[in-house]
Amino acid sequence: MDRSFVMVKPDGVQRGLVGNIVSRFEAKGLKLVAARFENLPETCVTEQYKEHLSKPFFPSLKTYIMGGPCFLMVWEGRNVVAIARKMIGSTNPQEAAPGTIRGDFGIDIGRNVIHASDSPESAAREIAIHFKNNEVFSYTRIDESVVYEY
Ligand code: UDP
Ligand code: MG
Repeated sequence: MDRSFVMVKPDGVQRGLVGNIVSRFEAKGLKLVAARFENLPETCVTEQYKEHLSKPFFPSLKTYIMGGPCFLMVWEGRNVVAIARKMIGSTNPQEAAPGTIRGDFGIDIGRNVIHASDSPESAAREIAIHFKNNEVFSYTRIDESVVYEY
């Protein structure tokens, strides 16, 4: 089954949005297979956002992400990477559609509440940065056919 790395950023944690965000993913039918709070060390932020290291916004992004605890998750489900990107909405919350997490909860691009992997390859890379294999839990729900057509 597919997996994605999803992270409530420090602004989302401070604003009390963790529960609402977890609820949205659960209600969609996705399965939470790993989660924890962490004050991300600089090495993890640099690894996570390595494609952006040379961008002008990188210093402020690093300060933002290291400004408080993040809530790190791995979600599992069919096509979860694309689904999670749709659920979080466009990077700039002002352009994100209402009904998406960024569209409903954010205003500034530098306070956009949540991260989700942008491809299956990124998801594998990001999960490995933040979680050990034994911290990700595979389990079967009582009846997966209430979510999936087999
Ligand atoms: N970001 C920013 N200013 C920008 C572009 C990006 O502060 O002009 C931050 C923002 O937090 C964004 C993150 O850098 O979520 C990573 O940027 P990316 O383009 O990968 O967006 P995402 O994949 O998070 O939608
Ligand atoms: Mg990105």
